[in-house]
Amino acid sequence: MKHLLDGHGKIAYALVRPPGHHAQPSQADGYCFLNNAGLAVQLALDSGCKKVAVIDIDVHYGNGTAEGFYSSNKVFTISLHMNHGSWGPSHPQNGSVDELGEGEGYGYNLNIPLPNGTGDKGYDYAFHELVVPSIHKFEPDMIVLVLGQDSSAVSYSIYRFSLLLVYNLIVVSIQ
Ligand SMILES: [Zn+2]
Repeated sequence: MKHLLDGHGKIAYALVRPPGHHAQPSQADGYCFLNNAGLAVQLALDSGCKKVAVIDIDVHYGNGTAEGFYSSNKVFTISLHMNHGSWGPSHPQNGSVDELGEGEGYGYNLNIPLPNGTGDKGYDYAFHELVVPSIHKFEPDMIVLVLGQDSSAVSYSIYRFSLLLVYNLIVVSIQ
């Protein structure tokens, strides 16, 4: 993120493990202690970005990132994930469609839970019918893409889809 904010390019890639998207402001979760995407978003905001969108396609709900910006209308968090629900006290969020944010952030969290076995067509439909229109409406200065590849464990098609998604987003961001 600093690389971008310093004006060295329009696209950057961070290879991190674990992804960090389960770490919440007040507790670790899902092997994540620091929320890498959330820290990148906060740095962008602190550096003058007015609006940042997060698109998370990891097979698990990006609950920590959503929680961190749940009351903010400056960060639009979108998560496409397996419909797994809560997994206990460390992960109270369900990832359901009715978790929309709160206060000023109401309407700035979009959860898209998908049934197990959703393939390219399902992702493609959700992406083009929900993600792209909402990103266009939000008009972010920056997009942070959380590219968890665990959905690829059972379906190589999701990996191909995510590459296509990255390509589409790059095209969208350049236009
Ligand atoms: Zn995951």
